[in-house]
Amino acid sequence: MHELSITQSILEQALTEAEKHKAKKINKIKLQIGAGTAIAADCVQFYFNTIKADTIAKNSVLDIEMVPVKLRCPKCKKEYKDLEIICDCKKGVEIVSGQEMIVEYIDVE
Ligand SMILES: [Zn+2]
Repeated sequence: MHELSITQSILEQALTEAEKHKAKKINKIKLQIGAGTAIAADCVQFYFNTIKADTIAKNSVLDIEMVPVKLRCPKCKKEYKDLEIICDCKKGVEIVSGQEMIVEYIDVE
């Protein structure tokens, strides 16, 4: 994954949102990263601290929450945490969460 471009898009999204609210600064960005995305949270955190410097987000905190992978069988609704392909009922399981990256909220003032 390209953490730098991911981080840039997060920051851009935050800055656009701040502009919309005519905010003077960004305090916090809450981010959810699915454990199934292979995005390295450490890298995102590192890049964020670097690229936020010349923006109104310079004093902001990036709060990253890791969302565990969750899978569910569409037939018997049994849930799994590991990437098991076949359920006990012989039906392939579907991924219900853990494959997304979401900016949950942006705190501005
Ligand atoms: Zn099943």
